[in-house]
Amino acid sequence: MPSSVDILSQDIMYLPGVGPNRKKLLSAELGIETYGDLLEYYPYKYVDRSKIYKVSELTGDMPFVQVVGHILSFETFDMGPGRERVVAHFSDGTDIMDLVWFNGGKYAKQNYKIGKDYMVFGRPSVFNNRIQVQHPEMEAVSEELRVKSEEFATAISVPSPHSLLDGRAEANSSLFTLNSSLTMRPYYNTTERMKKQNLTSRSMEKLVRNLMEKLRDPLPETIPDFITARLHLMNRDLALRNIHYPQNAKELERARVRLKFEELFFVQLNILRYASDQRRKYRGYVFNRIGPVFNTFYYDHLPFNLTGAQKRVMHEIRRDVASGRQMNRLLQGDVGSGKTLVALMAMLIAIDNGYQACMMAPTEILAEQHLTTIAELLQGMDVRVELLTGIVKGKKRQEILDGLLDGSVQILVGTHAIIEDTVQFRRLGMVVIDEQHRFGVAQRAKLWEKSRPTSQSSLPHILVMTATPIPRTLAMTLYGDLDVSVIDELPPGRKPIQTTHVFESRLSSLYDGIRRQIRQGRQVYIVFPLIEESEKSDLKNLEQGFETLRQVFPEFRLSKVHGRMKPRDKEEEMQRFVRGETQILVATTVIEVGVNVPNASVMVIMDAQRFGLSQLHQLRGRVGRGADQSFCILVTNYKLSEVTRKRIDIMCETNDGFRIAEADLKLRGPGDLEGTQQSGMAFDLKIADIARDGQLVQMARDEAQRIVDEDPTCNSPKYELLWSRLEQLHKTNVNWSAIS
Ligand code: ADP
Ligand code: MG
Repeated sequence: MPSSVDILSQDIMYLPGVGPNRKKLLSAELGIETYGDLLEYYPYKYVDRSKIYKVSELTGDMPFVQVVGHILSFETFDMGPGRERVVAHFSDGTDIMDLVWFNGGKYAKQNYKIGKDYMVFGRPSVFNNRIQVQHPEMEAVSEELRVKSEEFATAISVPSPHSLLDGRAEANSSLFTLNSSLTMRPYYNTTERMKKQNLTSRSMEKLVRNLMEKLRDPLPETIPDFITARLHLMNRDLALRNIHYPQNAKELERARVRLKFEELFFVQLNILRYASDQRRKYRGYVFNRIGPVFNTFYYDHLPFNLTGAQKRVMHEIRRDVASGRQMNRLLQGDVGSGKTLVALMAMLIAIDNGYQACMMAPTEILAEQHLTTIAELLQGMDVRVELLTGIVKGKKRQEILDGLLDGSVQILVGTHAIIEDTVQFRRLGMVVIDEQHRFGVAQRAKLWEKSRPTSQSSLPHILVMTATPIPRTLAMTLYGDLDVSVIDELPPGRKPIQTTHVFESRLSSLYDGIRRQIRQGRQVYIVFPLIEESEKSDLKNLEQGFETLRQVFPEFRLSKVHGRMKPRDKEEEMQRFVRGETQILVATTVIEVGVNVPNASVMVIMDAQRFGLSQLHQLRGRVGRGADQSFCILVTNYKLSEVTRKRIDIMCETNDGFRIAEADLKLRGPGDLEGTQQSGMAFDLKIADIARDGQLVQMARDEAQRIVDEDPTCNSPKYELLWSRLEQLHKTNVNWSAIS
């Protein structure tokens, strides 16, 4: 008899009920190739089928319910050429409800018999004062079911970011006799193509049941006893069986915790082992000298004192670069918290120790702005700073490339252009990456290679800055190999921005407010959304809005910028605003990054419901840069979805970027979070949810850290089980390659 490990790698084709056709479908649609894959295809929700409602109890806001009764009659409504709506009037003796088919009605009329008992399953709603269930799932009923029909029904729905269904019960065209005992029934996501070929959730359930019958031996454990025991985790065999067929809600919860932990734990173990490997393999350059360049800047050029948070982070960086290990540090700090300054000082330390430094930004505008800022701060000092972006060409480009090779260019600021192969440094010692979320792990690795020619075993130090704060649990997963520093303090003298929500209908009072601010000498941003998919109508909105504003404010001068303008025109318009020649800048999100006008005190965001939270926060960060009270006004129409409502409320409540990022993650889920797709971290988690399972992420991290600390070379027999499981996961799960 094959061991259960062998059984799990069996081709899914040989499972009873599958065969070559379904195998193709399962593989193409869900990536299920083996028994093991099916075992790990978890239900997306469960319905407690031990409970049955009465029609008279139903309301329009209930989740999935089941009702037992019979069809009284059918009615057919014409809905235009070739289309009809079929309604079955259905009763259980307590009341009457309607079953409705917008398609497949013909099939329903033919197959469901008037007067015969059915169990109907679906989500009730109210139409014309009558309860109805659209596209119900129907089952012929045995005597046993009728007996139970007094109880209540509840549906336990498992939210999943990967839900292919929107939570509706699928229309099920074939009748099943109910042979399962009445317990919690699993529901599996299936795709349209699968449904068309009759591979429904119910068929999936049957396949899983067939699988369970094959898996008589206990499934192998993947986590050592001493961990499962300490954390009171359910064993793997029980968890995998319970996740498909839970005994009850409590067992289901324990099974889910166990499987989530396992998933997160191996992700963390993988990341931490990778980080530990890197540390053992590569040294970092030792910068133990704080020399004239740094000191001149710090004592003679720095126009203000560092904040406490900036000082703390500088200490952390200095400790890192002197340690002999490669620094891999993520610097998080809200917009305007002074990260750029910290990065500059880190680069100056590299120069003092005879190395070059570079700073990489995601856009040309940002790179140019960094260059300007740095050049200004270093004015009068003997440090050569150059800019390299895609538009730097020809002779100038060659000069810079030569300067990098001979070491005379000490700081290079640029975009992705820096990672091209033609760019080689003499001694690159410090790499700063701004707005990390747009650079993946692979790109970071490419930067390291730039120093390989000079040293095989040492790597430049890496400082990654992000103004989009990343919640701790996400950072742990996304950038788990990085140490994290946080600047959680703004430079002194800044007043918190006041944020308010205004409905479109109240614009005139908003205009009055704007007028008052401008009369006091301030400037104002007014932002319109520009989303690529609806670019045309958005641009029209912007143009119309601009015209309206011109009429509203005949006494002021307005600028207008958007991404479709020629760079030179855009730059010119922007400069007019910067110089104070215009008082109002009407713009699209092009101003999200890159503009710094301390005199601007009002940020108006039109159609704010169309922006994501982090985008709103970034936009708001454009004001509040001077000493004056600043304002952010979010304008929306009346029709707000619940999620939008929450977003607006959070914005009005707090200026804290971390709280906003946390909320954003909860509202949207990590897959949607700006930039995570490009980050190189595969979010292919089957059951855990980084947004909601923060505590489990932390637990998994702690356990993994303990193990890597104790067994950094990964060869202790005590952890044999774990290391071999990790190897196995590497072999079977392609997505892991993205992480390491
Ligand atoms: P970030 O990159 O975090 O958005 P910046 O480094 O661009 O922030 O700093 C924002 C502004 O605050 C800049 O004008 C900068 O000169 C100023 N600044 C930075 N640190 C301090 C400080 N310690 N005290 C006063 N102003 C500061
Ligand atoms: Mg910045």
